[in-house]
Amino acid sequence: MPLPDQLLAHLAHVPGFRADFFTAVHAGQTPAPVSVRRHPRKGKTLFDGLAPVEWHQAGVYLAERPDFTLDPLFHAGAYYVQEASSMSLVQALNAAFGTERDIRVLDLCAAPGGKSTLIAEWLDGEGLLVANEVIRSRATVLKENLDRWGYANVVVSNNDPRQFAKLEGFFDAIVVDAPCSGSGMFRKDPETQKHWSPEAVTHCSLRQRRILEDVWPSLREDGFLIYSTCSYSEEENEGQVQELIASGAAECVVIPALESLPGIVSTGCGYRFYPDQIQGEGFFLAVLQRKAPANRTELKAKTPRKPITGQLSEWITESEAFSTLENHLGFTLFPYRQIGVLTPLLKHLHVLKCGILLGEQKGSRFSPDHELGLSVCLSALVPGIELSKDEALHYLKKESLPNRQSVNGTQLMRYQGRALGWGNALPNRINNGLPKSWRIRKEIDV
Ligand code: SAM
Repeated sequence: MPLPDQLLAHLAHVPGFRADFFTAVHAGQTPAPVSVRRHPRKGKTLFDGLAPVEWHQAGVYLAERPDFTLDPLFHAGAYYVQEASSMSLVQALNAAFGTERDIRVLDLCAAPGGKSTLIAEWLDGEGLLVANEVIRSRATVLKENLDRWGYANVVVSNNDPRQFAKLEGFFDAIVVDAPCSGSGMFRKDPETQKHWSPEAVTHCSLRQRRILEDVWPSLREDGFLIYSTCSYSEEENEGQVQELIASGAAECVVIPALESLPGIVSTGCGYRFYPDQIQGEGFFLAVLQRKAPANRTELKAKTPRKPITGQLSEWITESEAFSTLENHLGFTLFPYRQIGVLTPLLKHLHVLKCGILLGEQKGSRFSPDHELGLSVCLSALVPGIELSKDEALHYLKKESLPNRQSVNGTQLMRYQGRALGWGNALPNRINNGLPKSWRIRKEIDV
């Protein structure tokens, strides 16, 4: 599909835009690369030897796009399929915070969770991530992806940006990966071209302005706003950032790691990724530091820690760093250091996930939750069964399995050492504990 003439005219004077090369990559000369980001704990030895993404070493390029549904490691959360340019977020976080991790980050427009999973692994269990998505059905997918990623210091909410204004000065960083006109995705997904028009760009830029204004009160003074889009239009990118700078509310922050990379275009305040100049899709990324004063939400004093007891205490690594909680979601594991910040979050937000659900007592038996099964807090000593690839796919289709090893009771089903979920071993079979909504629905030949 040829690129819209109005888009090419619209971009003619945008910094770094090279019409001939840009048109050529969109004409199919260079297909969109396929990239994945390895989980730092679950995906350590995966894809070794493949070409890394220059701006994030956890990212690698695959030679072709496999059917990820057929790979149990994908379901285990050993990697996340993510467009490479987006992975540059890690450099924005590094530029803002260096090695500091005891911070509170809001990912405002978070579904399906590419940036959120990256922030969670960058925090590596310290600080707090609030991942928010305004559209309910998308928030469910976001939660699922963060369950799979397995960190306990994560809250998922389903709110409009306006509702964050009540959390005054609460966050040290806010990531706004804004809904946009999507021109940066034209090569990867040509269908998106059909929805592009100059009017859509204007509509998106007005919505982006509103989102930024709505969420701004919840950023603390000297906190960082990380702003990104997958659009090439200046109105949606530099235009948004410059308005905040011109008002005196914020200053621009340089991302040193991106300054020195060939192909990434620095545009005063922000970085542009063009598919004809780097191995990735169209992307814009900027970091601002809030200079305007901000009120602070008062935090409640910490409640006493409720330690994990019984068998569970042997299953959780570094269990002294966590407390258990009972709330509307159930019996949960949450980092004790962050417990004081939960009260305002639970008061003002519609929270769908808060730490890791541990499970529930069913008669004499404790039934562990799927969230716990996928958690990085779970000890490798939890009893389990190593499955072959065929067995793993049967498990992921929610079928029961034969009890080959004559084990009994609760078992963690693993593939190549990575947890897929729970099973309950009976003498003649293993009952499948995978939640129904997680099962592979597509017909597969195993
Ligand atoms: N950050 C995500 C990731 O890396 O996987 C992608 C986010 S996507 C570019 C933008 C998100 O903003 C979508 O999930 C969309 O539902 C959400 N959105 C749409 N309208 C919105 C609004 N008015 N306020 C906040 N978010 C909105």
